[in-house]
Amino acid sequence: MARTALPGRLTWRAATVAEARWETPSARTLVLDVPQWPGHLPGQHVDVRLTAPDGYSAQRSYSIASAWRDGAKVELTVQRVEDGEVSSYLTDVLEPGQQLELRGPVGGWFVWRAAPPPVLLVAGGSGLVPLMAMIRARGDLRGRQPFRLVHSVRTPQDALYGAELARRVRDDPGLDVHHVYTRKTPDGWPDPPARLGVATLNTHGWPPDFAPDVFVCGPTAFVEASADILVALGHDPKKIRTERFGGTP
Ligand SMILES: Cc1cc2nc3c(=O)[nH]c(=O)nc-3n(C[C@H](O)[C@H](O)[C@H](O)COP(=O)(O)OP(=O)(O)OC[C@H]3O[C@@H](n4cnc5c(N)ncnc54)[C@H](O)[C@@H]3O)c2cc1C
Repeated sequence: MARTALPGRLTWRAATVAEARWETPSARTLVLDVPQWPGHLPGQHVDVRLTAPDGYSAQRSYSIASAWRDGAKVELTVQRVEDGEVSSYLTDVLEPGQQLELRGPVGGWFVWRAAPPPVLLVAGGSGLVPLMAMIRARGDLRGRQPFRLVHSVRTPQDALYGAELARRVRDDPGLDVHHVYTRKTPDGWPDPPARLGVATLNTHGWPPDFAPDVFVCGPTAFVEASADILVALGHDPKKIRTERFGGTP
């Protein structure tokens, strides 16, 4: 039987890097021109495929950092993983004007659909990327749902989108951001470095009675530990959506 082309989001598209910017010393945002991009929901991801001249190819998933706006470019933020095959190419080699293949958007569960409940976002490292798309989408929509973000990072240097988040918090009383530092804290920080724990999620999350929509994203072990804490605090497991990036915490 003849093979037919797969339509829409399952089609591989050639995307051109329009711009690349460093978010931290090891994380870079790629701004991509994607012809006939169908649009996406905040929280969705794409599959990226790289193919070498000898035909060897590697494929990985990357969350979409940008909120959807008609005609806008698609932004991905890639954290370099030590010895990582694809991430180190995307952070250190790929330059504006060059192309990669992309397929998507993918995913219909880990998405924020501008529903009324308050939102709790819990991010480990680059797990902030799809949650940032939700924060940006809420900003674009002038959403009134209060958002709280708890972001766990190793050091202050590793915090993605620091200036933008600070600006959004300053301008928007409905957005609250709290950082947890696991290895090194900023000067004058009141707490020693520590992993995300019950006390932090209890203080900086929403009470379970508020029935928030909860999105947790990051390395697999981080996501599992955070979800366990949220359930222990009384959050309804059905309201907790998780996305695992793989790797170690
Ligand atoms: C749905 C989804 C969305 C994702 N979105 C993003 C995103 O927005 N930004 C982003 O930077 N990454 C994201 N990832 C992770 C990404 O797909 C790759 O796994 C990551 O870039 C590592 O690929 P690599 O080829 O560089 O490493 P590999 O060559 O595959 O692995 C090298 C080593 O690193 C370890 N490793 C693999 N992945 C990780 C990880 N995430 N953290 C720590 N160690 C790891 C491996 O176990 C291995 O030991 C996402 C993953 C999924 C499933």
